[in-house]
Amino acid sequence: MTEPTYPGKAEVRTVKRFAFDVDGTLIKMTANGDIPRYEIVQMARTLMDLGHTVFVWSGGGKDYAESWAKKLGLWPEARVIEKRNDAFDIDVAFDDHATSMATVDIMV
Ligand SMILES: [Mg+2]
Repeated sequence: MTEPTYPGKAEVRTVKRFAFDVDGTLIKMTANGDIPRYEIVQMARTLMDLGHTVFVWSGGGKDYAESWAKKLGLWPEARVIEKRNDAFDIDVAFDDHATSMATVDIMV
């Protein structure tokens, strides 16, 4: 992987830890079944390509999160962990609900 370069900023760049929820975030449930939210999946992939650490988690449990991480092509680059509310070691959490799990929570 090629390290991205940001003129004048490279020396302050740090690896961040991002977490993505499954239901409603990486996928959306429709009458026709579960459909990937490709723009969110792509964002996770882009963050990994930039060298950041990406986690997939779900209130449905670790096995459920892993099955979707595999189906979406994010695993094993993305790691699967238990979803928890005190995840302050996670820098940014993406979720379809307003949460306060990580240092920064982003509702998508
Ligand atoms: Mg959700």
